[in-house]
Amino acid sequence: MAELLSLEEALKRILGRVTALGPEAVPLASAAGRVLAEDARAVVDLPPFASSAMDGFAVRSADTPGRLPVVARIAAGVPAQRELAVGEAMAIATGGVVPVGADSVVPIENVVEDGNSVEIPAVVLGDNVRPRGGDIAAGEVVVPSGARLRAAQIGALAAGGVARVVVGRRPRLAVLSTGTELRRPGEPLEPGQVYEANGVLLQAVFAAAGAEVEALPAVADDESSHRKALERGLAGDVLVTSGGVSVGPHDLVRRILAELGVEEVFWGVAVKPGKPLAFGVRGSTLVFGLPGNPVSALVGAEVFVRPALLALQGATVPGPVFFEGRLAAPVRRNAQRDEFLRARTLSSDDGVLLDPVSGQESHMIARAAGADALVFAPRGEGELTAGESVRYLPLA
Ligand code: AMP
Ligand code: MG
Repeated sequence: MAELLSLEEALKRILGRVTALGPEAVPLASAAGRVLAEDARAVVDLPPFASSAMDGFAVRSADTPGRLPVVARIAAGVPAQRELAVGEAMAIATGGVVPVGADSVVPIENVVEDGNSVEIPAVVLGDNVRPRGGDIAAGEVVVPSGARLRAAQIGALAAGGVARVVVGRRPRLAVLSTGTELRRPGEPLEPGQVYEANGVLLQAVFAAAGAEVEALPAVADDESSHRKALERGLAGDVLVTSGGVSVGPHDLVRRILAELGVEEVFWGVAVKPGKPLAFGVRGSTLVFGLPGNPVSALVGAEVFVRPALLALQGATVPGPVFFEGRLAAPVRRNAQRDEFLRARTLSSDDGVLLDPVSGQESHMIARAAGADALVFAPRGEGELTAGESVRYLPLA
């Protein structure tokens, strides 16, 4: 490993190799988590008509205070048959169409009803009326191109009358775990064997980032099974391997990838854990070789692969997007490498506190299970003190 790339440089080289996959139209109902490939605009004004914000009575504010006859009862979805005349009130439900002639709604709690008339207090013009188009006007952009659709965006588009959206195609991604010692959970462990953790771990990260994941069966550390599995994985948009990218005699991934025509863009990042990460391309296929220790695989997937997946889908901000918090306990810095520490987030009066879990070694995936964040500790001398402001990535 001649020279370790900085985190920023590695990300730059990865994103520099990404060409966004083409667009496709999908029904809004199945678009959660997708990235818009075009601006999505409202089909109608929102609200589509002046509507009542309360259950109450529609009136002209000029007629208040006073006792008014109730001349109609308006339910949501059923507008009144006629206009409201001077000196009249109409009962109205939340979401009902405010009748022409009325300019305000008095909440039901504020009136005294008596047979077919109602005692109304003084009302401020416009009270409890949601004006037509007050949220957004027809034709305006509800969600811009490049944004990822989450619950609020999906709901906004549906409210705006959008039935289908044009989104970036999902990357087809293959995950391949390597290692003769790996066994599937559920099978008995023979001496020297460990359970295969990275396959499901990586699937979870990539599925959450919008990829269509195929998990290839894990392969032993022999050349022919590597060759077959890697070739198969190279058929998709992205291939992610774990294990076998270090310097041992059984680490075959980089060599076999090279034989299969993968151009290695870099190998080795100044990041802990996950130093021997390899990245290459063959045609339009991106190839990530993550180290085998499960925590290294997790960090590599979150920090380097996830942004590539979002960029492939056309995201304007592929990330990683850091948040800010403060350390709950001191941590020693690494002189050579930026470090991602597994930590638990705690809320406090002045923001997020980050409590590093005990056991920060790269094989300690069970300790990492107690964490929901990766704290970024920039390389340098000395320690970061308790209370110090740090950046972190939430874990998917
Ligand atoms: P490697 O990167 O292949 O040298 O593997 C480093 C360490 O991670 C070794 O202790 C492996 O047994 C372990 N390891 C590799 N792949 C996996 C995996 N898929 N699941 C769990 N542990 C793994
Ligand atoms: Mg190995």
